[in-house]
Amino acid sequence: MPMSTLAPVADPRPATAEAASPAHAARVAALLRRMTLEEKVGQMTQLAVPAVAAAEGHSPAGVRLDPARLRHAIVDRHVGSILNVYDQALTPAAWHDLVGEIQRVATTETRLGIPVIYGIDAVHGMNYTLGGTIFPHAIGMAATFDRDLARATGEVTAREVHASAIPWNFAPVLDAGRQPLWPRFYETYGEDALVARELGREAVIGMQAGGRVAATLKHYLGYGAPRTGRDRTPAELSRRLVREHHLPAFAAAIRAGAAAVMVNSGEIDGEPLHASRYWLTDVLRDELGFQGVVVTDWEDIHFLHTRHRVAPSIREAVRLAIEAGIDVSMTPFEFGFADHLVALVREGQVAEARIDESVRRVLFLKARLGLLESPMADRALASEIGTASARALAQEAADASITLLANRGAMLPLAREARVLVAGPAARSASALHGGWSYTWQGNDPSRYPATVRTLLDAIGARAAAVQHVAGSGFTAAAPAGSDVAAAVAAAREVDAIVLALGEEGYAEWVGDVDDLTLPEPQLALARALLATGKPVVLVLLEGRPRLLAEIADGAHAVVMGYWPGAAGAEAIARVLYGEVSPSGRLPFTYPRRPNALDTYDHKYPEALGLGLQRAEDGFRPLFEFGHGLSYAPVAYADLTLDRHRLTRGGTVTVSLTVRNEGAYPVRESVLLFTRQHYARITPAVRRLRAFAKVALAPGESRIVRLVLGAEDLSYVGHDGRPVLEAGPFDVQVGGLVGRLEVEG
Ligand code: BGC
Repeated sequence: MPMSTLAPVADPRPATAEAASPAHAARVAALLRRMTLEEKVGQMTQLAVPAVAAAEGHSPAGVRLDPARLRHAIVDRHVGSILNVYDQALTPAAWHDLVGEIQRVATTETRLGIPVIYGIDAVHGMNYTLGGTIFPHAIGMAATFDRDLARATGEVTAREVHASAIPWNFAPVLDAGRQPLWPRFYETYGEDALVARELGREAVIGMQAGGRVAATLKHYLGYGAPRTGRDRTPAELSRRLVREHHLPAFAAAIRAGAAAVMVNSGEIDGEPLHASRYWLTDVLRDELGFQGVVVTDWEDIHFLHTRHRVAPSIREAVRLAIEAGIDVSMTPFEFGFADHLVALVREGQVAEARIDESVRRVLFLKARLGLLESPMADRALASEIGTASARALAQEAADASITLLANRGAMLPLAREARVLVAGPAARSASALHGGWSYTWQGNDPSRYPATVRTLLDAIGARAAAVQHVAGSGFTAAAPAGSDVAAAVAAAREVDAIVLALGEEGYAEWVGDVDDLTLPEPQLALARALLATGKPVVLVLLEGRPRLLAEIADGAHAVVMGYWPGAAGAEAIARVLYGEVSPSGRLPFTYPRRPNALDTYDHKYPEALGLGLQRAEDGFRPLFEFGHGLSYAPVAYADLTLDRHRLTRGGTVTVSLTVRNEGAYPVRESVLLFTRQHYARITPAVRRLRAFAKVALAPGESRIVRLVLGAEDLSYVGHDGRPVLEAGPFDVQVGGLVGRLEVEG
């Protein structure tokens, strides 16, 4: 079968970042010439703010800097970067005080006056500023399939980060969420490479649009598929698979100008990413042309010695990481990295020219962000935080993310006259709406949420004629006495419908590790008991990953997936429940039915075979499929046409179809185009998402949607790591329609 290997797309940008901005380059070069080795290595060191604060750990009183520790870090040890890990959100004024004091010391008390670059995890809006706007987590953003929303939410996030005096955002997460056990699944755009590529690129463009905030692509690379499902554990992936599923999002965001990359704390095929010259230099720099700053994740150079055991000493770990391509080490509490690196240069084991490369990148980033001229944002910008338009955007994003997974007998929308029991541990939980990285790292401290947060019970209570509430169970443990299953069942007798809100409270990173994806038993027990009452049950899921619940989902009348929708989430769900909005979210991952069937939609043909290979298609039976999502208004797809049926390399084909809103609601339809390659040398997936578009349709309106596919969009990654376009037949599938395309060699 003829095949053609495609050369990687040439990068249109200049070969060095300096070439793009001669004025910044001259400034950086002048600084670099004056710097001592210690000052240079200081620019490569990133400390966590508790390392310069009066108390390490949690500080309910707010972050109080320790002047002596701060001076020591910045003046004596020349530290160039600090990251936020104080486990709490601050007011804009407190941010200005904190960052302002750090910048004052850096700019007025050090020899060269280079400002510090402060970094923060604003992963779903400015989740660490009181009054900041909190959007759905990325998994919910992915459900919108809406590029414009990804860009707009990125822009607002950066505006609020900048208004909080912070120039460096550790977002977006571009990891492919291909392991639902992984506790960071919700931070991803789901399992598909194209969705992550498209929405991730828009998020980066939005975040960097104002020019004052650097986006960080994380976590490069292959973090989203740990074999065990536990955070920071190894992925067993070939380089080919990494390129097929994990690299495209990073490559596109780099082409869009992303300023920084943070490295995966795990391993691929036995190689820790922090020690991988192949991934950090050969691929990231030489192939993708990345010119920005590469920062480690938390303490990860240390871990090359203590966890991964690829280095017999810390010093050797530092050498490996630097030779691999690290620019900045998130140490995060000590100066060993700097001391070892100075020693390695003095011993001749690391060339000073290599250090200069990294320092140039760091200084260039500071220059590019305007920090050298004005290290502090204007305090008056605080008025740009949490504006009415930002809140409206959060509402729009949350509305668009809510995904209706089942609606048996048109149970939804609910009538306002219906008497409702609102039950389940998520019904009154702010944490189950916001998830991790919300006011605190774990997002699970109720006392940190603003009093204005609306829970699902509040939002339903504002609509239903009569509401009862019984929690009925906790998230993981049985409910406290007085609010148990029996009370919920008793209350159910008095109502017409039950809204049962189940799922997960916030968690972040390894703290959220589980070794069983099954929804915890107390919640299942509550659901079983309520289903047994015979009253119709609307299951609302607020969760960071698909917890297994097939037995109750099959019995519920309706299933609404909320993901972790953020501050506007309760209102968004209530709007859907009461038919004020037609749901438009689509599931951006495959919802598993059984514990050992954690498949993805783009699985291989043999994986769809049933037990004993006898019952074809039995092997792939998820609870809900990738791309699934119902609406209240049926949208008919018709007239699929391809403007050509034969495609050669370099060519394009335009796929057109008509979509028509046949219902009474305005809808925002996600049109997903999949291809199915009949045969390929590397076994083809049963289908791949190759294009998507979002179309607004008024009731009765029809539109022609055109999706353009390049021949290269139909390629897969070959064993040599290059895209292969293989001649032969392809099906083009949109909705239930199928067209045929022949790729010619
Ligand atoms: C996480 C990163 C985060 C960093 C700084 C790490 O533990 O893995 O995603 O950016 O901490 O908070």
